[in-house]
Amino acid sequence: MKIVIIGGGSIGLAAALVCQRAGHSVTVFDPNGFEPKVLSGEADARVWALGPKSTSLLAELGAWAPDERVCAYQSMHVIDARSDAKVTFTEPALGYLVEADWVRNQLLTQVTESGIHCVCDRIESVSEGGVLILQNDQIAADFVVFAEGRQAHTAIASGFEVVDGGYRQRAVVGTLRCEHPHHGEAFQIFTEYGPLALLPLPDHENGHRVSLVWSLDLEVASEFQECSIEELALKISQTSEWSRGALEFVNNPIWIPLSQHSLKHDSLGCLLAIGDTSHGILPLAGLGANLGFGDVSSLKETLEKHPSAHGDRIARTVARERRFDQRTVAMVMGLFSNVFRSDQPLLQLGRSFALRTADRHATIRSLIQELAG
Ligand SMILES: Cc1cc2nc3c(=O)[nH]c(=O)nc-3n(C[C@H](O)[C@H](O)[C@H](O)COP(=O)(O)OP(=O)(O)OC[C@H]3O[C@@H](n4cnc5c(N)ncnc54)[C@H](O)[C@@H]3O)c2cc1C
Repeated sequence: MKIVIIGGGSIGLAAALVCQRAGHSVTVFDPNGFEPKVLSGEADARVWALGPKSTSLLAELGAWAPDERVCAYQSMHVIDARSDAKVTFTEPALGYLVEADWVRNQLLTQVTESGIHCVCDRIESVSEGGVLILQNDQIAADFVVFAEGRQAHTAIASGFEVVDGGYRQRAVVGTLRCEHPHHGEAFQIFTEYGPLALLPLPDHENGHRVSLVWSLDLEVASEFQECSIEELALKISQTSEWSRGALEFVNNPIWIPLSQHSLKHDSLGCLLAIGDTSHGILPLAGLGANLGFGDVSSLKETLEKHPSAHGDRIARTVARERRFDQRTVAMVMGLFSNVFRSDQPLLQLGRSFALRTADRHATIRSLIQELAG
């Protein structure tokens, strides 16, 4: 088949490799280009927690190898700031913390070596039959994958309908120097303003490092955004109950708008939406990219199982298989966000009960880990 991928982020590039290795002719379009990012000495502010399923897929694609920029984590300690409830997940290989740009660079290397055609251009729209409209040209494809991130401009112009899932928030992310070592433990605290996570990073120049993700309601975010980075670091040290001691930003933190969304349908004829184009979720348990790599794994299996199927059947099958995972994760993230923000006594009780139950029962912890990819 002649396959076109719209979007050269990590999910689009992984999808391109999977399609090419299944024997198809693949072209990727991305108006922002295909240059690898130059990574500085300090870890970039955008870091992903990737689960074993995502890293296995990346390893199969030749895009995962031990590296000094990758940090394994063996446990995750979650506490509630307004009760004594807590839960700890422990597993020899719970997952890895890695810069998002590092992952994309690895995939770009594989794509460049594989001979996949990369075009730095914008597609205006695509018909359900697979005709791509460019500014001055038209191209026909048998199967088109939309992986252009949250904005989904081309997908919307091609007939996909976005369902707004609400939860408008803003996250602050950044790399922090910390006083105490993290011992490979991810820390998360549910605060009245929103969940704050300090994720382990490799040490740098004999100093300890963690990556911050703090999702905040818009009003609080606007207030905190006015603080100096020293004041913000102090707030984070205090709010995280000094779990990693005194914290200090090593580069400027970044503020990122958050919300949840999905598409009414993920497939239209021979068109398939995956990654953040198909599902935007809150980064509560760091699941977005893991869900996207899950979409790619499902595409890989479908192409292998039905080697001579047409594009519309592949699109339909992948969309059907992924629907349950995507819906479940979005629902759970929304529920978590409501329950862990609320000050209502009943919800507080529920929150405490949920964490205690998870802490006591290994099967519940395994289920949550399974969801986390
Ligand atoms: C604060 C925060 C923390 C997160 N932490 C985690 C985590 O710990 N673990 C995890 O799994 N996930 C995490 N995520 C989610 C993760 O960042 C996303 O799920 C992931 O980036 C989605 O990848 P993607 O390739 O679908 O989209 P993107 O990374 O957005 O890539 C989209 C690509 O499409 C291109 N593009 C844009 N417009 C067009 C167009 N019109 N035509 C063609 N190409 C186009 C862009 O240039 C880009 O290359 C986090 C997200 C946030 C906001």
